[in-house]
Amino acid sequence: MIYTYKISIKGTVQGVGFRPFIYSVATLYDIVGSVSNGANGVEIYINTTKDILDKFIDYIKTNLPPLASIDSLDVEVVSNKKFDNFRIIKSTKDSTITALIPPDISICQECQKELFDSSNRRYLYPFITCTNCGVRYSIIEDLPYDRAKTSMKFFKMCEKCQAEYNNPLDRRYHAQPIGCWECGVSLSLWDRSEELRVTSKELIDKVVALLKQGNILAIKGVGGYHLVCDATNYEAVQKLRDRKHRPSKPFAVMVRDMDMARELAKINKKEEELLTSKERPIVLLQSVGVSVGSQVVHNSSQSDKSQITSPLAFKFDTSLAPNIAPDISKIGIFLPYTPLHLLILHALDKPLVATSANITDEPIATNFESIQKLNGVYDYLLDHNREIVNGCDDSVVMVVSNKPVVLRRARGYAPVAVKLPCKLDKKVLAMGANQKSTVAIGFENYAILSPHIGDLDGISSVEYYRQNIQTLQRIYDFKPQLIAYDKHPNYESTKVAKELIDEYDIPYSLSIQHHYAHILSVMAQEGLQSKVFGVAFDGTGYGDDGNLWGGEFMVCDNSSYERVAHLGYFKLLGGAKAIKEPRRVALSLLFDIYGKDAISLDNPTIKSFTPQELKTHYLMWQKGLNAPLSSSVGRLFDAVSSLVGEVQVMSYEGESGMRLEELYDDTIEGYYEFDIQDNTIDIHPMITKILQDDKRVAISKFFNTLVEMIDRVYTPYKELPLVVSGGVFQNAVLLKLVLDRFENVYIASSIPPNDGGIALGQIFGSVYLSKSG
Ligand SMILES: [Zn+2]
Ligand SMILES: [Zn+2]
Repeated sequence: MIYTYKISIKGTVQGVGFRPFIYSVATLYDIVGSVSNGANGVEIYINTTKDILDKFIDYIKTNLPPLASIDSLDVEVVSNKKFDNFRIIKSTKDSTITALIPPDISICQECQKELFDSSNRRYLYPFITCTNCGVRYSIIEDLPYDRAKTSMKFFKMCEKCQAEYNNPLDRRYHAQPIGCWECGVSLSLWDRSEELRVTSKELIDKVVALLKQGNILAIKGVGGYHLVCDATNYEAVQKLRDRKHRPSKPFAVMVRDMDMARELAKINKKEEELLTSKERPIVLLQSVGVSVGSQVVHNSSQSDKSQITSPLAFKFDTSLAPNIAPDISKIGIFLPYTPLHLLILHALDKPLVATSANITDEPIATNFESIQKLNGVYDYLLDHNREIVNGCDDSVVMVVSNKPVVLRRARGYAPVAVKLPCKLDKKVLAMGANQKSTVAIGFENYAILSPHIGDLDGISSVEYYRQNIQTLQRIYDFKPQLIAYDKHPNYESTKVAKELIDEYDIPYSLSIQHHYAHILSVMAQEGLQSKVFGVAFDGTGYGDDGNLWGGEFMVCDNSSYERVAHLGYFKLLGGAKAIKEPRRVALSLLFDIYGKDAISLDNPTIKSFTPQELKTHYLMWQKGLNAPLSSSVGRLFDAVSSLVGEVQVMSYEGESGMRLEELYDDTIEGYYEFDIQDNTIDIHPMITKILQDDKRVAISKFFNTLVEMIDRVYTPYKELPLVVSGGVFQNAVLLKLVLDRFENVYIASSIPPNDGGIALGQIFGSVYLSKSG
């Protein structure tokens, strides 16, 4: 018997070559019918028998296009419809507003093969792509995802490309960014003032020659420009550091392939999977051949921050210059993810420093005007003529105890929908936090998280932040009914939230405590709706009492929370300055313990100040002037790194934690005693002991003490699942200790543990209000 079946498929099924795939399967089974994009996915109508229907569905499920995934597939028999053939029905705006945009992903195997195949018409074409790979999010202006609504609209396809584009059985059917030497995107090479005359076919060789000579190049990629140089060339790397005013923050390195990656770092199976995944993030790895710790002299005083350990003897040609990641044994490595990167890396055959091109406090450069501002940093500019509509940085991931943890969620991952365990009754816009900012929109049971936007420290960053909100609103045709934002009154994100609430007369708004949002983000990621025991170890976030929290233990669900314990408060001498100078936090703790006598102590913290500074800071501490109270574990890390003489003034965010990680020794057992009274953890006994112990012992026991604290406070709540989050859990040593100690623990993994996860937490925290309001 032949029936008309309606098959509804939800999931990532739009903009990923799904309809032509269905077309090809229908052709295979000689089935008539139609396929179209519906409101929430793809709708298929077919006339066939039950027997063939089963085969049809089975084939679909087992042979999905590489970028597609199915959340649900429903079949029903409907009243008879007549078809003469099988047709793909064109999409309309209405039908795609809740569709999920696929992110920008790396070049696929087939395109890579064609790229290096001299008989292929796209041989060595730097922008080769197909339905299964390449740019998406970064070129989209609006939905439906059609070439006319992307920055590819300026490129008229040649006849050959057009024929591929029109053929449902071709790998390039409706692949919006396709082109070729004849009709597609093209490169141009510039010195600081004008375009150089180089033919397109000679261009890569020229670029590689410039890199080999030690030049710094700005290269336009997928979601922005990179600054690149030969990673084995000490002078080139130093020149980049000097020009970018970036004395020691580690640089990421792009390598030709896995073989080259293995020469530079120890890589386990999970890490290899990530490096070669279609997302191709930067993966933080343990470098080989570089020993940090006892064998390398640390620059412990802040005065010689820019002094870098002298070059070591090179083992391989590919050995990294030691100033890539001074004093740090971790290295961020990624593989080429576009044909352009592949061409350069294959010809260069050396690792390449590749860091996002931006001016301090500004977002990643995405156009010719913004990259021109870095004219003094690069020597040459490799540009292309496809506009980047939506900026997107590289993603960063690490693997801890075999679990991937996304530290920066951007290219390859974003925007991606997170399925919530419950439904939102209102459309929610979540504003995120101020650092490592992201925003999110929530509707029904989906949250869509923007890529990493960055720190909202300057006017143009805030402008870029607004653009990201507008992009999500435009693409998803989204008008918020509720705006959720951080409690901090001075966050730029809070200020923008209040403006939007006024400007658009948003009926509902909700401020959500920072650390509660951190825990909520993991609950959303894991689909946890019941009560949990949350541990938020973080930098600083605005607390309900107006103090700067960050060492918080809370029992919560997605409607409310109770702060059941926290670190004892200490003063941040100089407010924001204390966040950059670990020694100020350490000094404050010393004043707490020893009063004015602290000034005459003999330790690295005290030594880092002049006698006059010590007096001034004592007054500041005594009178509580410009000295906000904090319970932050992030700041406690800073204090410890100062007390042991590792870091007094940070040259980049997170430096103290990274340096302590290097010195942790897992053979050192034991922890420091601490007291808990009135829900407050007294850290003073630990601080006095740290002053007496050897550096490695002190650091190792400090880590162990933090785990012990979690255990002690958690014990009475052991029936609840343990959730840990917050920026401090970017620390791989601490995270591993927690994963080793506790069985029933949930960590941020697909969502960053840092403030990049806050927006998702805010969405999840709005579910309750969204219902009751
Ligand atoms: Zn491809
Ligand atoms: Zn063409």
